[in-house]
Amino acid sequence: MSEQRDIKEIIVQLTLVEKASLCSGADTWHTKGIERLGIPSVMVTDGPHGLRKQQASADHLGLFNSVPATCFPSAAGVASSWNRELIERMGRALGQECQAENVAVLLGPGTNIKRSPLCGRNFEYFSEDPYLSAEMAAHHILGVQSEGVGTSLKHFAANNQEHRRMTSDSVIDERTLREIYLASFEGAVKKAQPWTVMCAYNKVNGEFASENEKLLTDVLKQEWNHDGFVVSDWGAVNKRAAALSAGLELEMPSSYGAGEQQIIEAVQQGTLPEEKLDNAVERLLRIIFRSVDERKPDTIVNYDAHHQLAREIARESMVLLKNDDSVLPLSRGGKIAVIGEFAKQPRYQGSGSSQIKPTRIDDLIEELVQSAGAGTEIVYAQGYALNQELADEKLTEEALAIAAEASAVVFVAGLPSSYESEGFDRKHLRMPANQIALIEAVTAVQPNLAVVLCNGAPVEMPWLDKAKAVLEAYLGGQALGGALADVLLGNANPSGKLAETFPVQLSDNPSYLFFPGEGDRVEYREGLFVGYRYYDKKRLQPLFPFGHGLSYTTFTYSNLRVDNTSITDEDTVSVQVDVTNSGAVAGQEIVQLYVRDVSSRVIRPEKELKGFSKVELAPGETKTVKMVLDKRSFAYYDVEACDWIVESGEFKLLVGRSSSDIVLEEEITVRAVHPFRRTFDRNSTLGDLNEAEGGKEIVDKLIAQLPFAAALKGEHEAMVRAFLDQMPLRGMTSFSSGAITEKDIADILATLSGPDTTLNLGGN
Ligand code: BGC
Repeated sequence: MSEQRDIKEIIVQLTLVEKASLCSGADTWHTKGIERLGIPSVMVTDGPHGLRKQQASADHLGLFNSVPATCFPSAAGVASSWNRELIERMGRALGQECQAENVAVLLGPGTNIKRSPLCGRNFEYFSEDPYLSAEMAAHHILGVQSEGVGTSLKHFAANNQEHRRMTSDSVIDERTLREIYLASFEGAVKKAQPWTVMCAYNKVNGEFASENEKLLTDVLKQEWNHDGFVVSDWGAVNKRAAALSAGLELEMPSSYGAGEQQIIEAVQQGTLPEEKLDNAVERLLRIIFRSVDERKPDTIVNYDAHHQLAREIARESMVLLKNDDSVLPLSRGGKIAVIGEFAKQPRYQGSGSSQIKPTRIDDLIEELVQSAGAGTEIVYAQGYALNQELADEKLTEEALAIAAEASAVVFVAGLPSSYESEGFDRKHLRMPANQIALIEAVTAVQPNLAVVLCNGAPVEMPWLDKAKAVLEAYLGGQALGGALADVLLGNANPSGKLAETFPVQLSDNPSYLFFPGEGDRVEYREGLFVGYRYYDKKRLQPLFPFGHGLSYTTFTYSNLRVDNTSITDEDTVSVQVDVTNSGAVAGQEIVQLYVRDVSSRVIRPEKELKGFSKVELAPGETKTVKMVLDKRSFAYYDVEACDWIVESGEFKLLVGRSSSDIVLEEEITVRAVHPFRRTFDRNSTLGDLNEAEGGKEIVDKLIAQLPFAAALKGEHEAMVRAFLDQMPLRGMTSFSSGAITEKDIADILATLSGPDTTLNLGGN
């Protein structure tokens, strides 16, 4: 008997009350069970970078205690690894920890786009780019789910700020919504089928995400074929029956009968068809039973191995932003001064629902001492106090004293958790004043300064010119200390690249003028131009561009080739490039592939990321990297067609080390097999008609009827041509002195929407 048939039979036996009750949680973390039919209650819990399983008091704010679990680096860092396989391994480890604790669904990953660097939850999100974000989310999901544990892709959709997050309305034009904000979910849903998708708190274009039928049913279930269920973010349900009708199967946490009652009444009153409720229950039960079928109660977790994995991921998540005079890796043998309270009180995870209780925490100083070995002295000074902004004279003096006599300084800086968290957005991108002051003071006594940053999102760096090296460590998880020692001392070669742009100053960011909106209304007026799409187009120099990251070695690119320079939009094209490690140590390089539409009738970004590959190379070694492009790599979302459209023509394929360091390029032609036929009306211009299939012939015939047709060849040609190009069809009657009639116009419109484009104009 198939599982499908079983479930349908169970549904037949359920009463209306029971069916409604299944659509609401039992408490904060469990679904409801129905014993008489063998339906179990299962646990769903946070996520995403470690398991937060609470045993006693429950809360969704990360306040009360939870069982110890491995704290992996948070998404902002993991995304900087650009390593699909690595994040999948992290997912598998998370899945095992869930199995050991009998957790059916881990709530994550979060794949909202980083619209503004101010968003308090950016540390939990992957990128400003939907392709990278979707790829990272997909592999996180694939990893967790390969262990028989579900995920919850969140927060669907357009949850890009914390300010008023439960009531705000993200107002976004359709093309931007599709190309940027939904695309980040779309790729992950299609590639990895998360068992559940968590709807966001906010409204999207006027409707709560929890009641948004377009998002939850039309797009998610129908267009993308999501076959799991939708769970509300904790407390995101406004009206339960409307939400169920829109496609939200599970309300969390429990509303203690209120939600169920609304569903029951709606069914009884005939405003909610019972079939919809049955479908919702079927989706819920399929996943609940799947978790039962895939349950591995004997799982024993090797927490030591997971700690080592956390260390590996932390290393790959770090981005070496600057490294003048190769000050990193640190030379062994001398005296290394480590400054900053963060070195002892590391900031390794973000605050809020993702905050977990780690199994252990590495101590940076101990790790450095151990890795550096005898002969290298590691000295430490607190330097600044985390709980205050003002510089402390005594701490400053101590720090400057050890800085002056050391051969190099590692300054561990960053944002205290009071600066960024789930629940609120930052107001500025500044680091605490005492840290800035001390960095500057140290540079006066010590030229070899490496600043390590521990933060969830970009900061302004007014001190950048004075520091020789900057290592962005993000929120590196419980093994941050060990991973930092590995990278700082050169036991590991940094290989991360930024998954987001670091602006010089906050006001450079494209959402700056409109963030966080007026009251509940948040208009995404920068449109498609999020992150590097904006900086590129504006030719605005960021502090560090998207995709940037240095290594202790160097890489050269050569021999870019494609398997076909002329394809249709139904084909794929394979892009290959040779990458050589031209330096002295082994390292990994992230090769990035961007696509530019050379000419378009719509506004498009300069280029968009459509492929990447991370490759490991020994010194002197060369490997060929291969990336494949398909229709979506060239398409834009056309709001008239309600579909992804490729405009036939030339496209540039740009291969580079970062979004601003393109090294090789190739041009190919893509032809749309079924070009979109636009609809025309009396107000379509001759210019519009000219672009349609068969349109030019019609326009030429129309123009021939005009008394001033001859002027198209004389000195006024440019002006007349522009005038005609912009002339709506209806204008032809007057300007042809009546030669072209309304009937002719109607015939033209009929012809353009039919298969035949031969026309008889003006009765001739
Ligand atoms: C957060 C979710 C989280 C849930 C449960 C909400 O406040 O937005 O990301 O999964 O709480 O803790």
